[in-house]
Amino acid sequence: MGIDLGTCNTLVCVRGEGIVLNEPSVVAVKKGTNRVLQNGNAVGWVAKEMLGKTPGSITAIRPLKDGVISDFEITESMLGYFIRKVQGRSRFIGPRVVIAVPSGITAVEKRAVLDSAERAGARRVYLVEEPMAAGIGAGLPIVEATASMIVDIGGGTTEVAIISLADIAECTSVRVAGDDMDEAIINHMKKTYNLMVGEQTAERLKMEIGSAAPVGEETTMEVRGRDMISGLPRKTVVTSEEIREALQEPLSAIINTVTRTLERAEPELAADLVDNGIVLAGGGALLHGIDVILSNATGLDVRIADDPMTCVARGTSIYLENIEDWKNTMESDLDEL
Ligand code: ADP
Ligand code: MG
Repeated sequence: MGIDLGTCNTLVCVRGEGIVLNEPSVVAVKKGTNRVLQNGNAVGWVAKEMLGKTPGSITAIRPLKDGVISDFEITESMLGYFIRKVQGRSRFIGPRVVIAVPSGITAVEKRAVLDSAERAGARRVYLVEEPMAAGIGAGLPIVEATASMIVDIGGGTTEVAIISLADIAECTSVRVAGDDMDEAIINHMKKTYNLMVGEQTAERLKMEIGSAAPVGEETTMEVRGRDMISGLPRKTVVTSEEIREALQEPLSAIINTVTRTLERAEPELAADLVDNGIVLAGGGALLHGIDVILSNATGLDVRIADDPMTCVARGTSIYLENIEDWKNTMESDLDEL
């Protein structure tokens, strides 16, 4: 099986079956401990329900929130839970597992991911860098001698990579992505309306009326929250224009990351990108107009991958099928550990 261990969502893809698991990368624990609630079953959707609504003694944690592993034990519990869940539902799953990890994680963190997958029952575990998996999943010609650029905008991190000959030539990972867009919306609601809204409400605003550029019709949405002055529940109406304005700051950080990475590219690779353009993956690729602003900023063609949120998971599964072809990359990766 191939696993996309994302900052927001974990997906599992099995050869011949497609995506068999798609759950939030969230774990609910008893405060001050690493003990997962409900006998280790308060993971994924179950835990997400608890986010922001947990009583004092419970916290819902996203252990990979910033693209680094904040807590090894909790990450291990989460990964183990997902692997067992998939093994339970499928008649037979090969014991080989490929896991896509954020490109910024350290050797110690890689080791921890490998160990936890092994403890969860995998016989052989391989790690692949997330942008590589995204490129494979998006169908880019990454093994060929031509450069491709992939921009994966997730929840906690945006990963930008230039790939050629099955290797990452340039790669930048920044901790600015979907979560920061939600936060920008929360701040806007505070500043403009004195209204406190939750993370889930902010995310809904972003998905339903948010945009990076004026594409399509402008709309409005009703929002509920708590008035910061009276302290009482209240609702108001916000427009798509003001949400777009609120998103400018995180979006320019993402644009800067893309242009900085392009500036570092070898001239021959840069030349390839003139023809091949940029491909967007991750949930952030679904923000309306994100392709437009990136294209304006770089002058390159920008395409959104098919089904961008499953790109990495599908890529890991394809990587596993062709594991022999990847031996070189893979072995050098394991040597480092
Ligand atoms: P990760 O790989 O870090 O787990 P994902 O690729 O699963 O992240 O993307 C999750 C992010 O994408 C979240 O911040 C979510 O709010 C955002 N997202 C999902 N759908 C949309 C959408 N339609 N418009 C804008 N953002 C979206
Ligand atoms: Mg991802």
